[in-house]
Parts: sequence; C-alpha cells; structure tokens
Amino acid sequence: MRRRSFLKMSLGGAIGAVALRPNSAAAWQSRAPADSYAALVDLTRCIGCRKCEQACQQEHDLPLPMKSFEDLTVLDNQRRPDAARFTVINRYHSGRVNPEGQLVADYVKVQCMHCQDPACASACITGALSKTAHGAVHYDVNKCIGCRYCMVACPFEIPAYEYHDPLTPRVMKCTFCEQRLREKQLPPACATICPTEAITFGKRSALLKLARRRLKEHPGRYIQQIYGENEVGGTSWLYLSAVPFSKLGFIPLPNKPLPKLTETLQHSLFSYLWSPALLFTLLSGLFFFNRRKQLQQPENSAGHAGGDV
Ligand code: SF4
Ligand code: SF4
Ligand code: SF4
Repeated sequence: MRRRSFLKMSLGGAIGAVALRPNSAAAWQSRAPADSYAALVDLTRCIGCRKCEQACQQEHDLPLPMKSFEDLTVLDNQRRPDAARFTVINRYHSGRVNPEGQLVADYVKVQCMHCQDPACASACITGALSKTAHGAVHYDVNKCIGCRYCMVACPFEIPAYEYHDPLTPRVMKCTFCEQRLREKQLPPACATICPTEAITFGKRSALLKLARRRLKEHPGRYIQQIYGENEVGGTSWLYLSAVPFSKLGFIPLPNKPLPKLTETLQHSLFSYLWSPALLFTLLSGLFFFNRRKQLQQPENSAGHAGGDV
C-alpha cells in the first residue's frame, strides 16, 4: 500500500472514531494566559551576528558547536534548532535593496514560538509540556515518557530529541529562559545580548502595540504583518519583517489553534483504548496532511500589505 493511501485510511479511521464516539470530548478551550510575556523580533534590525546563539548556549550550558560563534560561514546553509542548540540564525537573500540601492540579506532567528495554545502540549499524553502563566511552554522531563507525540504535533517542527542518549533522552527546545525570569527577573539571555536591540522582551499586549506603532510610523520599512499575532492562535515570539514572511522560511499557518483537533482526536481514541502506537500513526497522518495543505496555500492566510520593501 502506498504511504499516501495508508495515511488517508488511517486518518479516515480516526475521524470516523471521533464521529462515532458516544460522548465527544468536552468543548476545547484556549488555555492562553491573559497577558503573558513575549518577545518581538524586528528582523530589519538583525545583523546575523549570532550573539543570541552564543548567549543561549552559555545560559543553558549546551554543547559547544564544531565551528565558533564568530564563524559566519555557517550561515551559508539553512539550519534548524536541535538537541544541542535551542536557537539558530538563518540568512535569506530575498532581493531586498537598502536605500543606497545595495542588495541586503535578511536574517531570521528560529526557536520554539511558545504558542499561546501549544499543539505540543495538547498532544502530550502525560502533561510533560504545559503553557505557564508567564508565557513559556514548559517541559517537565520527569513526566516525559519519550513518546515524541509533541514532535509530530508541533506546526513549527521545533522539539528535538536526544537520540544519542539511550538512557535518559530528553525532548529539547527553547525554554524562553523561564528560570532566569522567575528567579532573577531578567529577560531571556538572547534578548539581553542582542547588540542591535532586534529582540524586545515584555508583555505581549505591549509588544503588539509597539509592533503596530512601528508599522504605522515606518510603512516603507515593514510589510504590514506581525507574524505570530494570530498564527495558530498566536505565539509568544512575534516578528516584524521588511519582506513577506513566506520568503524567509516562515511556514504559512492558519489562525485557528491546532490543539482543538489534536485533543478531540486523542480523547476519542483513548476512550476506545486504542494503542499509543496507533495513535502515533494517526497523529502523524493528520499532521502530514495538514502540512501538505498549508504548503499548498500560496500566501499566509493573514495576508500582507506588501510592496514596501
Ligand atoms: S512552537 Fe512547537 S514546541 Fe514550541 S510551543 Fe509551539 S507547538 Fe510547542
Ligand atoms: S529565550 Fe532563552 S532558551 Fe530561548 S532562544 Fe533565547 S536564550 Fe535560548
Ligand atoms: S544577537 Fe541580535 S542582531 Fe545578532 S543575530 Fe541575534 S537577533 Fe540578530
């Protein structure tokens, strides 16, 4: 059977199970805190220096990379966060020119988005991932059973796994430096170190106001969109850009939070005592088709004013 047919059948079975379930799962409700902390990344200010990567590595005592943080040749390739690095900077050549008419590169910081309604937390059957009041999506290694449903569910493909550790592997992702904030009342290490103030930390509502003010005061500098304001129900990391986000590796995503579907499916399957292995297959199928659908959409559903580059 072809992979596509198999996934279709799996998904059909899952949806059927949901539909036939006698008492469907309770109506899904957002668990987003009222006004938690967030970070605004102004990509027009980022110079790709990688200081944020270094600060993150030091703050969390992560392994040192093979090439030093001063070596900018790593920007020649697109990278993803992994078990040894919670954040990376990627470089894009979108054809943007500066006021002097010179071609300029765009740099994008990538890390866990700390979604308002995190799909990873909804997919986690043990509660190892949870949205905290201050905004971070917290990972509790003591509750994690290593099923990796979170990795399948995350629309940003962020959680990584310590495959190299056979005894005590962990799911790894940006912590939003929640310990630093809680114990020392300090912003995240990456935000503190940034030499161009490309990262602003604060309450989400205040950052959205700041972002809107920048868009209004400098319409020629930015496209008229705040990525993360609405995507998948909103995220704690917000972005401003000079070029459409689709040109900078941002995944076009719907505004609707994904946990609603994930939770309904999970609760229905567990009410029938379906096995975790089958659930993993079904969730994989669900997100495979969801991702295909997203990638087939030409532009972000939130739309762009565009043109002001
Ligand atoms: S980006 Fe992924 S891992 Fe991070 S909170 Fe959102 S769903 Fe979870
Ligand atoms: S918020 Fe903290 S953990 Fe996340 S990328 Fe920044 S420094 Fe790293
Ligand atoms: S430290 Fe600031 S300017 Fe440097 S790469 Fe990170 S976000 Fe960009």
